[in-house]
Amino acid sequence: MKHALLAGIALLTLGAAPLSREPGPKQKVDLLIRGGTIYTGDGAPFVGDVAIRGDRIVLVSRRADVNAAEVIDAKGMIVAPGFIDPHTHLGDDLASADAAKRLVPAFLMQGVTTAFIGNDGGGDPDVAKVLGRAKTRPVGINYAAYVGFGAVREKVVGEADRAPTDAEMGRMKKLVADAMCNGALGLSTGLFYAPQSFAKTEEVIELAREAGKRGGTYDSHIRDESSYTVGLAAAIDEAIRIGREGRLPAHISHIKALGVDVQGQAPAIIAKVEAARRAGQNVTADQYPWSASGTSLVASLIPLWAQDGGRPALLKRFGDASLDTKMREGITENLRKRGGADKLLIVEGRYLNKTLDAVAKERGEDAVTAAIAVIRIADPGVVSFNQSETDIAAFMARPWVMTGSDASGGHPRVYGSFARKYAKYVVADRVLSLRQFIHRSATLTADTFGLAGRGRLKAGAFADVVVFDPKSYAAQATYEAPTLRASGVRTVVVNGVLAVNNGALTGNAAGRALPHKPTAGSCS
Ligand SMILES: [Zn+2]
Repeated sequence: MKHALLAGIALLTLGAAPLSREPGPKQKVDLLIRGGTIYTGDGAPFVGDVAIRGDRIVLVSRRADVNAAEVIDAKGMIVAPGFIDPHTHLGDDLASADAAKRLVPAFLMQGVTTAFIGNDGGGDPDVAKVLGRAKTRPVGINYAAYVGFGAVREKVVGEADRAPTDAEMGRMKKLVADAMCNGALGLSTGLFYAPQSFAKTEEVIELAREAGKRGGTYDSHIRDESSYTVGLAAAIDEAIRIGREGRLPAHISHIKALGVDVQGQAPAIIAKVEAARRAGQNVTADQYPWSASGTSLVASLIPLWAQDGGRPALLKRFGDASLDTKMREGITENLRKRGGADKLLIVEGRYLNKTLDAVAKERGEDAVTAAIAVIRIADPGVVSFNQSETDIAAFMARPWVMTGSDASGGHPRVYGSFARKYAKYVVADRVLSLRQFIHRSATLTADTFGLAGRGRLKAGAFADVVVFDPKSYAAQATYEAPTLRASGVRTVVVNGVLAVNNGALTGNAAGRALPHKPTAGSCS
C-alpha cells in the first residue's frame, strides 16, 4: 500500500525528468541496486533502481534495463545518497597506522561516506599533507579538511593570552592562505577553547578573509554556547559578524543552548540566524542529536583565566594557596551552569562511567575538591547533560541545520548520530520527515560546502550510496556503552565500491581526500 503510493508519487515527479531509455544492447554496469525506495536528496521518493559503473552513478530510474555484474536487492529498503558529516574529530583515525581504524567502521555502519576534519580550530595546518595522506594510507570514507585557527595560532603565538604582533599576524595569514590553496574547506575556529579564546574578533576576521578570498567557509565552535563569558547570544552575533566582515559563509558548529542559564533560548538564536540570512548572508549550522555534549573535565569546569598557559600553568595554580578561593568559586559556578555534578559523566580513565557526583562520594570529598583531584591526574573526557529537548527540536526543524556528529571518543555520537536522528527524531518524535532527514544529512551539506558530485543520487554523481532498512535503522550506542555499532544499514557504496554488504563491513577502503577548489586566480 505504502509502496504503491510512493510509486504513484514517483510517476508524477519523474514525468518532467528525462528518463534514460537506451535502445539496442543493454548497458553494462558494475552494480545495480534494485527495487528500493529511492530518495535522491531533492525530489519525492520513488521505487526504482540505481546503476553504478566505476566510481559513478550512471542511472537512477524506476526500472534500469541494464546488464549488471552484481545486483543488490533493495526491496523494502531506503536508498539514499551517502551521508556527509560536517563536524568530526576523526583526523587521528583517518591518519592512523592501523588500517582497521582508517576504515571508520562507526561511520560506515551508519551510512556516512564523507566526513570533515580539522574542526573546532584543531587539526594539522599542513592541509596538503593531511589530504595527501589518503594516497599512502587508504581510508574507508571520503574526507575534507579545514585549516584550524587554534593550530595556526599555537604554531605562531603559542598558548599565551596576548594579541599577535604584526609580524605574527602576517605569518598566520600566510598559513591560512597556503592551507586554502592546498585544498582546505575554510577556516575553523573553536573560540571557546584556550588559547583561541584569547583572540579578539578582529583577529579572526582578518584570518577569515584569507579563507573567504579563496572560496572557503568560516566554521565556528562559537566563543560561548552557554553563559561562561560573552553568553550564547553574543557569541552567535560574533560568528555572524565574522562571516559578514570576513566576506564568507559562516557555519555554526553543533548549534545548541548549553546549560541551565540559556536553555530555552533556541527561538531567539534562530531569529538571529534567520535575520542574517534574510539580509543575504550565508549562515548555516550543524547539530548532533543528543542532549549531552562531550568535552573534557578541564574545558567544562576550569575558569578560563586558570587555563592561560596550558596544563603546566593550571597545575601550578592548583598548588597556589592564594588562588584557592578564586579557583573554587570559578569551578562551583561552572558546575552550577552545567546542572550539577550528577550531570557530568566521566568517560575516560580511572573513573570511567562514573558521574563527578559519584566520584566525589567515593572519595569522601565535595564535588569541587574531587574535580581538582581528578584533573591533577589527567584531564578525562566527560559527557555533560546540558540541553533541553525543546531546544534540540527547535534547531533541528530549521532548513539550514544539517546533521553532524561532532564525533569524539567516549560519546555515543561517534557510533550513532545519524542513526539516532532517524530513529528518534524522524520515526518516533516526527520532528523531521524522512525526506528532510536525508536532504539535511547529505544534499544540503554537499551544496553548502561545494562538494562537487556528492550528496545526490543522480546520473554522473560519485557513487556514494547507503541502503538501510527503515524498520531497523537505529543507534545502538548509549552513554554507558558508546561504541556499539548502529543497526539497519544493509549496503554502503563509497566511490562505486562496496564498503558494507549484507550488513557487514567488506574491508574495502575506497574513500578519497576531497580537496576544496580555491577560487580561480586566488592562489598564485
Ligand atoms: Zn566543537
